[in-house]
Amino acid sequence: MEITVLGAAREVGRSAFLVRSMDSKVLLDFGVQLTKEPTFPIHVSPKDIDGILLSHAHLDHSGAIPLFYISGNTNLYTTEVTLELTKILIEDFLKISGFYLPFEYIDLLSMIKSTHKLKFNEKVSIKGFDATFLEASHVPGGASILLESSKGRLLYTGDINSRGSLLLRGANTNFGELDAIITESTYAMTDHPNGEDVEKEFINFAKEVIERGGTLLVPAFSVGRAQEMACVLKKHNFPYPVAMDGMALKVNDVLFRYQEYLKDSSLFRKSMESVEFITSWSQRKRLVKTPSVIISPAGMLVGGAAVFYNSEVSKKPKNAIAIVSYQIPGTPGRTLLEKRVAIINGKPRKVKAEVRQFDFSSHSGRKELFDMIKRIKGSPKVFTVHGEKESCIKFAEEIKSYFGLDAIAPKAGNTYII
Ligand SMILES: [Zn+2]
Ligand SMILES: [Zn+2]
Repeated sequence: MEITVLGAAREVGRSAFLVRSMDSKVLLDFGVQLTKEPTFPIHVSPKDIDGILLSHAHLDHSGAIPLFYISGNTNLYTTEVTLELTKILIEDFLKISGFYLPFEYIDLLSMIKSTHKLKFNEKVSIKGFDATFLEASHVPGGASILLESSKGRLLYTGDINSRGSLLLRGANTNFGELDAIITESTYAMTDHPNGEDVEKEFINFAKEVIERGGTLLVPAFSVGRAQEMACVLKKHNFPYPVAMDGMALKVNDVLFRYQEYLKDSSLFRKSMESVEFITSWSQRKRLVKTPSVIISPAGMLVGGAAVFYNSEVSKKPKNAIAIVSYQIPGTPGRTLLEKRVAIINGKPRKVKAEVRQFDFSSHSGRKELFDMIKRIKGSPKVFTVHGEKESCIKFAEEIKSYFGLDAIAPKAGNTYII
């Protein structure tokens, strides 16, 4: 088997890996890097590819796949929920990106038509490969992908969360014996605190802000994190108004139809019943003056209704912004966190509102990543990807010294034989 790294090498973004076994070639993900102007993985010719396997809906994994449908119809394989969520995210990407994108809506439609919808643990044959999608927990429908051929067994973690969350069950990490693993490294250098403690800390902070007459903005990814935050508030019987806006509402509709993908569908339904859904500008303008919690995408403030809320909420010291997910360097969310500055209409402005970070990660932390590697049977070659440069390099070094495995933080464009 041969792996060519096309992206997500020493960076978070544009995940894409080409895997070849004899004369079969498949792609694992084909995402975009969204930091500033969208950048794409290293080019591959669509006619060379026998299938694309998509781990989950996030654009850093899915956003460049429509490129394959401009002049062809490569088979795409993913879970049924991921397909629906990907459609929502790419539609929005086409609408709001503000940059020239080399594909159009019609290419997205061809992509949807060429998709084979799978369930977790279902095995599918793609030329010389058998592929199985394992529950990865990171977002609804999210999967790790096991690729088997006569040449070996390769596991691609995608984005994975072994601990699970209030919304999703923990990942299935029973990979068995492997010849290679491509693992994410987002939090390879950071341990997550206890989940229950983070929930309580967040609830106390939200109460404190509202009780001093402020509004709390929670920028959250539309897929998963927004719903999880509503579940956290519901679980702790949060006594004040909670509103949800933007694309998260479309995602709610999908999750209502696929409740078997959720850990606790009853908590999900109850939390949705107690949230006010925001769909108009009059509601938005009222809301920023109301002591309440506003859950709104985008999670890194790169677009969506959260940009409007941020420009209003950040003006007053009684208000607050709770950062509840990973912020890619260079995004407005990261700038807010590090410099207490908001980018309003392209210009920086000092933020007067309180800014607090809460570790609600949907990625495995350091301990979970090491536990996962420890449990693998055989002596696989390990590729550490999807992390900031230092994390990928250090993670590979540590795997080498603790487990004696051949571990590499690959560079984009490199090909490895396994
Ligand atoms: Zn992701
Ligand atoms: Zn990712």
